[in-house]
Amino acid sequence: MDLYEYQARDLFEKHGVPVLRGIVAETPEQAASAASDLGTPVVVVKAQVKVGGRGKAGGVKIGKSPQEAQEKAEAILGMDIKGHTVHKVMIAEGADIAEEYYFSILLDRGERRYLAMCSREGGMDIETLAKERPEALAKVPVDPIDGVDEAKASQILTEAGFPAEEHAAIVPVLVKLWETYRDEDATLVEVNPLVKTGEGRILALDGKMTIDNNASFRQPDHAALVDRAATDPLELRAGELGLNYVKLDGNVGVIGNGAGLVMSTLDCVAYAGQEFPGKPSPANFLDIGGGASAEIMANGLDLIMSDEQVRSVFVNVFGGITACDQVALGIKGALEKLGDTATKPLVVRLDGNAVEAGRQILSDYNHPLVTMVPTMDEAARKAAELAAKEA
Ligand code: GDP
Ligand code: MN
Repeated sequence: MDLYEYQARDLFEKHGVPVLRGIVAETPEQAASAASDLGTPVVVVKAQVKVGGRGKAGGVKIGKSPQEAQEKAEAILGMDIKGHTVHKVMIAEGADIAEEYYFSILLDRGERRYLAMCSREGGMDIETLAKERPEALAKVPVDPIDGVDEAKASQILTEAGFPAEEHAAIVPVLVKLWETYRDEDATLVEVNPLVKTGEGRILALDGKMTIDNNASFRQPDHAALVDRAATDPLELRAGELGLNYVKLDGNVGVIGNGAGLVMSTLDCVAYAGQEFPGKPSPANFLDIGGGASAEIMANGLDLIMSDEQVRSVFVNVFGGITACDQVALGIKGALEKLGDTATKPLVVRLDGNAVEAGRQILSDYNHPLVTMVPTMDEAARKAAELAAKEA
């Protein structure tokens, strides 16, 4: 999960990285009152979008009074920056910048370690710097166990060409940025610019962070960082239900067990859909996993049926650890639980462990919405046909 600058700023502050105060505003009026709350002679109005290069795009502006902050916010809110609409700005204290540096730590998957990057030439687009003047950008491997201690930080600064007398002020900031990276389970912490002020203070003026979602089980606070307004409501609900769900834009709901099976089901549905009017295609990816209980099946069906775009649902299960009779009971339980709220035709393809028993259960149940089809291709075809008919 990528964070907004203001969220990165908050996490930096939590870990003792020196930052300036910043207040989020969603309207020009809020921007004015944020500026007067800050009370500094200069504030910076900064677009909050999860994309770099805001400065160049006109998304970072200086204001010298609350009135000016309001005007700048008015200009920035609603702006489109590389396809991202600005809904929030951060009103930050203005800094007296003497020098701009660059520092980042990121996950280097190929080398199974981290990589620190540092340059005395910050502020500008780092990709451009890396291409045009690669010698100005130090790249220093970081061992995940050792991390960045004072000695490592000093080594990074040396490689970036900082004279020794400048190390003392910057080293503690790099160590704290490392601690932020480590303790928040980040895969990226980037500060551009890291600045030296006229008084010689070192400040992280712009922060970018990416959090590793695989660590969310031990980072309960990170749930609050999810931008709910920008997340698909069905995906939000799926997340709350613990379902492995991705919204797509077609109209055939898909449920399967195992990511590989679900992915090939999506292909089959998209392929089968070609021959029907409107070319029905998958509405979602939903993997209910190996040991799916009736409850998981019910949650999955409920979620998919509440998707207004869905016209038919294809349940494609290969009985493995969970035998087909259990899956059939799951579908039956789900339909009983959903009652009248189940309104969309269901195509079920069962195969594998205990397939006969599973099919028997569903044919005895004889639910009007359920059609059983023995093979995956035929079932995909049937689901597409039903979606075309229901459209
Ligand atoms: P980005 O373009 O999205 O990376 O946005 P930044 O937050 O990095 O801001 C871009 C540039 O605006 C910085 O490199 C600075 O040169 C300038 N800037 C940002 N904040 C301040 C500030 O408080 N004072 C001054 N004088 N310049 C600032
Ligand atoms: Mn920046």
